[in-house]
Amino acid sequence: MSAAPGRRPIVPFLRLPPDGEPYLAGQRCTACRAVFLGRRLACGRCTARGPFEEIRLSRSGTLWVYSIVHQSSPGVPVPYVAAIVDLPEGLSVRCNLIDVARRWR
Ligand SMILES: [Zn+2]
Repeated sequence: MSAAPGRRPIVPFLRLPPDGEPYLAGQRCTACRAVFLGRRLACGRCTARGPFEEIRLSRSGTLWVYSIVHQSSPGVPVPYVAAIVDLPEGLSVRCNLIDVARRWR
């Protein structure tokens, strides 16, 4: 996997193509088509030991739950929105939401 010069992914399943939009990479079981984040030794659904194929995950999903964080580690700007988002591929991603209109007080 290559990344744009000067950019490094903060998680192993983040792809930063030099000529395109960042995306998350899922691992799909070729036996049952279940999708996971991160490398797998075996499928959590059918227990097959692979192979797994990498797929590009959707860049949008359905917000499942969120929390507005007002206190964090020193140096971390607050508030921010911690969330779990369900992706159409059938998995959930723990993430921080950005570019969300600020409507809380
Ligand atoms: Zn499977």
